[in-house]
Amino acid sequence: MSGVQFAENRGRTVVDQDAALLRGLFVDGRWRKPAAGKTRIIACPADGKQVAEVAECTDADAAAAVASARRAFDGGGWPGTSEKERGQVLLRTAELLERDKALYARAEALDTGKRYVEAEYDIDDIAACFRYYGGIAGTDAGRVIDTGVPGSISRVVYVPVGVCGLITPWNYPLLQASWKVAPALLAGNTFVLKPSELTPSTSILLMETLLEAGLPAGVANLVTGTGPDVGAVLSESADVDLVSFTGGLATGINVMKSAATTVKRVALELGGKNPNIVFADAHREAALDNALTAVFLHSGQVCSAGTRLLVEESIHDGFVAELVRRAQDIRLGGPFDELAQTGPLISAAHRDKVHAFVQAGIDEGASLLCGGYIPDAGVLSVGSYYPPTILDGCHTSMKAVQDESFGPVLTVETFSTEEEAIMLANDTAYGLAGAVWTQDGSRAQRVAGALRHGTVWINDYHPYVPQAEWGGFGKSGNGRELGLQGLAEYRETKHIWQNINPKPSHWFEPPQAGVQQ
Ligand code: NAD
Repeated sequence: MSGVQFAENRGRTVVDQDAALLRGLFVDGRWRKPAAGKTRIIACPADGKQVAEVAECTDADAAAAVASARRAFDGGGWPGTSEKERGQVLLRTAELLERDKALYARAEALDTGKRYVEAEYDIDDIAACFRYYGGIAGTDAGRVIDTGVPGSISRVVYVPVGVCGLITPWNYPLLQASWKVAPALLAGNTFVLKPSELTPSTSILLMETLLEAGLPAGVANLVTGTGPDVGAVLSESADVDLVSFTGGLATGINVMKSAATTVKRVALELGGKNPNIVFADAHREAALDNALTAVFLHSGQVCSAGTRLLVEESIHDGFVAELVRRAQDIRLGGPFDELAQTGPLISAAHRDKVHAFVQAGIDEGASLLCGGYIPDAGVLSVGSYYPPTILDGCHTSMKAVQDESFGPVLTVETFSTEEEAIMLANDTAYGLAGAVWTQDGSRAQRVAGALRHGTVWINDYHPYVPQAEWGGFGKSGNGRELGLQGLAEYRETKHIWQNINPKPSHWFEPPQAGVQQ
């Protein structure tokens, strides 16, 4: 039960010894036992071995976490601090994450099965997110308006939204949480975090780090468990003012529907089916290398993965043949296999769904060039591995091109003109990210400008920075994370008008005879 040991090994004072052995429900700054007393075993998808046992909470636990966040918000302590003070807590959190990087990276790698080194990169990015939001504290106090009305003072100010329900997925568990937690705290909100039931360990660790960084009890709350059991409480509760969700499209639609009855603020970061456009004049080696990383990084379990290769007809055969050769050479393995280049899928159930997706693509007429099977021998058969898979001869009428597999599956389409490339790239219900590869600078700008996607890379794939907004068009979601807009999601904007020379307006005084109204 190393997930629990991680926390024990930190040598901290554990506030509630009885509940401390079973983390997952964090309320009022203390670990609590879940009301129903149930637990869940977290297993590493690389080998199925147990890595942690955590609380399996129910709706009563989620309600307790919401009540804690509500009390902490309504009590006014945290929202009443200055943004500078809150920024200091975030900066301290970044330092502590860096101090405990190995602890966090190990927990993330074991929960997700991803390579330890990739988990380390994630922790660096998470610390950078906290540092960014900590660093902009106090830089924007609103606006003073020139009303044109003598004797008036008019200000536009920002106040926290209130209690935030933060629901996160399993692919980048703490990274996705940090994009919500850091701006929510900077804006002065309190929150309940609900991580994926498959990968809760690093969110558990974060609660203790936030307390150590100086966050008052009750501001950060955690509830582990399934979406229907505990996630739904966050979207439905009248005591939650905002729900920010990252996950799949179908779940996002459910969250939005159930949030509608309380008219709470809703932010959705959903899936993607992202085009990677390669023109014939692209830098061949860079385009090949990045086409591989675009789709097969983290075995395709990346919302912005470049799962649709749009390649110019004239270079299709040679480009795709080389891509297949390289894809077949990618070595799969567990978090601590130093020769591994990517890891397993999150679960056997998810792997089976990805396999069914590939089979359906073949049934639709796609040609399977590599992958497309479930390993049934050796170490790979023990974990939920799936090999890099390439489907050629695809077009936008196919479900394989339109639907997200969230696995290592690349579909290949061809185009002959710039207009056709743009038309195909935009022929998707999603709109999260995309890339264009060409050495023609003007064409690069034209295509980037025409793509209806939230992030566009030119001659690159995947980089992002916390200063720049992230989010999708269409069914990839609404709202933005990161950057200034990622903070605005967690602020209410308020207009305060003051009359410094009050006097009657006489609006409702009776009309006087002979005076024109
Ligand atoms: P998911 O939708 O199955 O689950 C996401 C979270 O929602 C989990 O915590 C889950 O327990 C919870 N949930 C499930 N049902 C719920 C309900 N009825 N009410 C409230 N919460 C509920 O997604 P997943 O499989 O964990 O993650 C993969 C998906 O996430 C992919 O579609 C991927 O594209 C997307 N994603 C998007 C981004 C982005 O930035 N746009 C980033 C990462 C992942």
